[in-house]
Amino acid sequence: NRALREVARKPWLNTKQTMGGEKKPLLRAAMVALVRNSELDDIRSTIRQVDDRFNREFGYPYILLNDEDFTEEFKVGVQAMTKTKILFGKLPESHWGLSPYVTEEKVQEKLAYNKDRYLYGGSYSYRLMCRYQSGFIYKHPLLADLDYYWRIEPGVDYYCSMPYDPFRYMRDNKLIYGYTIGLKENRKTVETLWNTTRTWMLENPHHLPEKSIIYWPINEKSEYTLCHFWSNFEIVDLSFYRSEAYESYFQHLDRAGGFFYERWGDAPVHTLAAAILLRKEQIHWFEDVGYRHPGNAHCPNKPEMTRNCVCDKGMNIMYTNLCGRRYTEVNDISKERALVLAAL
Ligand code: GDP
Ligand code: MN
Repeated sequence: NRALREVARKPWLNTKQTMGGEKKPLLRAAMVALVRNSELDDIRSTIRQVDDRFNREFGYPYILLNDEDFTEEFKVGVQAMTKTKILFGKLPESHWGLSPYVTEEKVQEKLAYNKDRYLYGGSYSYRLMCRYQSGFIYKHPLLADLDYYWRIEPGVDYYCSMPYDPFRYMRDNKLIYGYTIGLKENRKTVETLWNTTRTWMLENPHHLPEKSIIYWPINEKSEYTLCHFWSNFEIVDLSFYRSEAYESYFQHLDRAGGFFYERWGDAPVHTLAAAILLRKEQIHWFEDVGYRHPGNAHCPNKPEMTRNCVCDKGMNIMYTNLCGRRYTEVNDISKERALVLAAL
């Protein structure tokens, strides 16, 4: 009947903690975090909340990845927090390092120059992390069998219980990329990212789809709006990152050197890829996911969502910031227009 169909389309309307009460098989999906041994308390806190809000019901595995070996203390400490299976993985060495296209000397020079210009401006490891999350994490052997991942981070908060399986929701609605917070990036960290991106578009028109939502990060004058999905939360159909188009785009960015010479984040990189390669109907704003990462938080304000949440409705970055509002206003544009924009 109509009410049931409505709940299937808007599963947050469901007032019970399980969809229809019956156990459905899990998808090939996991909760994935890159994390350091020093972040034990913070990842415990995140896992406790993810379990409380959603995953105790479903039991999707946690996959924790580290460039170093996890300590026994870390593994025991995390596993003590949940009944759900946790897989611990070390990164393949070839995935964590300096891009072969940059020179050590120039990297050092740029780190010194950017040190006081912005957060992590002088951090080498932060750049390794951003490059890893942009072009490698989905290639980790522990993720090989996954169709979807939900990225989590130590020290974040989840405020709303989820009465449905978001992976299933993504699959049933043919969604590729899900986010909860979208906002402006610091321009100084991505000074040449759009120019580098449009070169790739012009060189690879065969990779561009007939329609895309490029008008979110790029305006009609071909200026970078800096709008990006905050990738510390993202639920993604991994076939997107594994596609030829995404790999070609990542390689192009890596060759340009901006992961090191500037401080390109995986968030603006994932976003530009999604915006030039996907249609709006393939992207989903998880408005019902109340979420805080240090710096910003989103607390839903729709009554049928807030009843699942414990958060301060004053934490409303998505309803107030320019990028949040722009997202609701922009629509797809054609490949022809996107190419004109890229050439402007
Ligand atoms: P921010 O969110 O941009 O402030 O950056 P974070 O410090 O939160 O780093 C993003 C994610 O990468 C978090 O999950 C961190 O735990 C992880 N991370 C950052 N740097 C490293 C690192 O050097 N090694 C490991 N293993 N994880 C890291
Ligand atoms: Mn973080």
